[in-house]
Amino acid sequence: MNLQDYDVVIIGGGHAGCEAAAASARMGVNTALFTHKIETIGEMSCNPAIGGLGKGHLVREIDALDGVMGVVADKSGIQFRLLNRSRGPAVQGPRTQSDRALYKEHMQKILLNYENLTVIADPVTKFLFDDNENKVIGFLCQSGKEVRCKELILTTGTFLNGLIHIGETQIPAGRFDEKPSTGLSEQLAKYEMKIGRLKTGTPPRLDGDTINYKELEMQPADEDPYYFSFLTNKLYNKQIKCGMTYTNNAVHKIISDNISKSAMYSGNIKGVGPRYCPAIEDKIVKFKEKEKHQIFLEPEGLNDNTVYPNGISTSLPEDVQLQILANIKGLEHVKMKRAGYAIEYDYVDPRELNATLETKKIKSLFLAGQINGTTGYEEAAAQGLMAGVNAALKVLKKDEFILDRSTSYIGVMIDDLITKGVAEPYRMFTSRAEYRLTLRADNADQRLTELGINLNLVKENRSKTFLEKKKKILALTVSLQTNFLTPNEAKKYGIKIAMDGVKRSCLDVIGQRNVSMAKIRQIFPSIPSHEMSVDNQVVIDAHYAGYLSRQSQDIKSFKNDEAVTIPSNFNYDALSGLSNELKSKLVVVRPKPLGQAIRIDGMTPSAIIILLSRIKKMRFRVSA
Ligand code: FAD
Repeated sequence: MNLQDYDVVIIGGGHAGCEAAAASARMGVNTALFTHKIETIGEMSCNPAIGGLGKGHLVREIDALDGVMGVVADKSGIQFRLLNRSRGPAVQGPRTQSDRALYKEHMQKILLNYENLTVIADPVTKFLFDDNENKVIGFLCQSGKEVRCKELILTTGTFLNGLIHIGETQIPAGRFDEKPSTGLSEQLAKYEMKIGRLKTGTPPRLDGDTINYKELEMQPADEDPYYFSFLTNKLYNKQIKCGMTYTNNAVHKIISDNISKSAMYSGNIKGVGPRYCPAIEDKIVKFKEKEKHQIFLEPEGLNDNTVYPNGISTSLPEDVQLQILANIKGLEHVKMKRAGYAIEYDYVDPRELNATLETKKIKSLFLAGQINGTTGYEEAAAQGLMAGVNAALKVLKKDEFILDRSTSYIGVMIDDLITKGVAEPYRMFTSRAEYRLTLRADNADQRLTELGINLNLVKENRSKTFLEKKKKILALTVSLQTNFLTPNEAKKYGIKIAMDGVKRSCLDVIGQRNVSMAKIRQIFPSIPSHEMSVDNQVVIDAHYAGYLSRQSQDIKSFKNDEAVTIPSNFNYDALSGLSNELKSKLVVVRPKPLGQAIRIDGMTPSAIIILLSRIKKMRFRVSA
């Protein structure tokens, strides 16, 4: 084979690219990753942290499918915290502050030694198409090398025509000190792909040695860390504390007085930014009544004195940034290592994609990550994994792998993207998942790992660990189901249950939340003992049992709608009784399952009935 021929090639070594490359290689196909520099593989462009609410679920799901992000996050974690710890497991969010250098180091080490994967530092400058087939067939690199591939995954993040803004200053860049990628979006636009501009921003970086922590509140790590990977069972690094400080009226006045100098407010930035992660100037303008905004002072690493002030991302000029910092408690004498900035970049309307993340207009071209209008490492990685798997499945001539909204946050995100498109950078939240009681971070392996094993996506080590855990969960559940307590017996052991004369299984009793497994084992010593992860899973499942049986009805009716497929050549224009607006939305999205059509914004019950009766008539005609 020619050395420049690959089955699957990934362009970009960011979070989407790393996960796509690893997934495709795990599937056993000959994979290559092309990126700018080996040293920036796994770079955290903005905050040094992984996970959070909703995002943590994505990382656990990536890990359940044997992805790399969870393992690397655990190896580089320096402040593990389970967000919403006091609330139910469904809305808890694992998060860790990461050592930026360690994250990159571990990611590079894993990928450079990954079976079936070649990593090459050579930026891509031009796509090669077979215009007769509307298909991408390869690309040219900066070195002049020509590469051919069967499937191509583009994960260029914020690099496509990237433009940095600091006040009036504009610098073409993919991120700080890195050149943008030009010419690639223009080639996609020739295929009538819908391309827009989005914006994101980052705060200044501070010299931690010049911060006065003495009077600041400090936030420690959790004592019992919640890891991302189902394979991790130990802490790798020393855990650190983060400082907390706040903006104040003086800071707000400086920002208001200089608002016209902010690139966001001077009209220089056209792209829309993330509503849920706004710049500090945006917060001051939009929430005038708030007297202060919280800032977390997050160290970027164990051997790095750089501090990331989470909460003050900005595109104000450098001198104004310095004034702001000097007026914040603890930062009065801080040295700024690098100014904050905003960045605008091209993204592709994700409604251009099928659920596999292959584009509808260019065959064999998959897109994943920030290029699809999302923001965040976790969102990018999850898409990367799905694009990697599906590109490999195409090479192997096997059926596509789609996760739906009832199985995973990954499914929720991809369905949202391809059905609704984005009006601003898309970020994951638990509130986006309608079946969130089922889709918990704790049970991501129970939901997904077996699917991965069936695909050959999960390696032997994880497969073995998972199957053993599954066996133990089953044995423990059965044992709890087959040991019973009467109310009187329960009372004797200090367990409170209704004195209604009804005998209950230990599983029901455990589900009541006021009883520990230790107590139950004390009463029934024959109930098997296992590691904490097994106990925890059974206990959480028991707590949720009542809700889950109700949710399973909703999931059943969801699955019924998903099972009705709309023919790919469906003529929406011929439907009478539908508004032109709705017809044009249906034409853009071209939903595959009926359920996806139902989720399009503006869809009405009567429109669904018209659509469904037309589908039924078509079926009848085909089968008659
Ligand atoms: P990236 O991580 O951007 O990776 C892109 C990769 O593609 C890089 O390795 C690059 O070298 C490579 N590449 C680009 N062009 C080519 C080419 N032509 N040939 C070969 N390789 C190429 N996310 C948040 O969640 N919250 C935030 O507050 C936030 N703020 C941000 C602020 C800034 C300034 C930036 C730049 C990003 C911010 N992000 C934020 C976004 C976060 O960094 C991204 O969501 C995430 O990194 C996207 O991952 P990705 O893999 O899609 O792209």
